[in-house]
Amino acid sequence: MAVHQEKAVQSSRGRLKHRRPDANRRVRARRRVLSPGKAEAIARTQVIKAYNQGLEEGFRQSGVVSAKVWLAALDDRTRPTHLELHETQVGLDEDFVSSSGASGPGPGQLGTAEEDISCRCALEAILGDDSDSEPSFEEIPSGVNETEVLE
Ligand SMILES: [Zn+2]
Repeated sequence: MAVHQEKAVQSSRGRLKHRRPDANRRVRARRRVLSPGKAEAIARTQVIKAYNQGLEEGFRQSGVVSAKVWLAALDDRTRPTHLELHETQVGLDEDFVSSSGASGPGPGQLGTAEEDISCRCALEAILGDDSDSEPSFEEIPSGVNETEVLE
């Protein structure tokens, strides 16, 4: 009986050794396939991050934006930490700081999966102090008919 069990173990080990390379290949092949939900989450996360990075760069290049505001999606899927950040204003080159301790320049850029995956928050620009005054006629480019501007 003991001899029989030993043979069975040896036989089992022999089959495992023989099949292991094939089994490992199958496991690796499965890992390369993403579920549609995971693929969508990755795509959303990366698009939001790129969108907000581009938006912030536009704020910077405009020369008239002095600060940015975090706008949360405000529904039942919004993270509590992002609800807390809603309408938080920081300087254009400053980071938002979540109550989780994560920080970064905007939505999708806080640097942790818990804060960034599928974030749907947005940024709003705060214009500099002199931007809210009406442009004077001296600021209107030459060649523009003032009468047409007033109509
Ligand atoms: Zn968010």
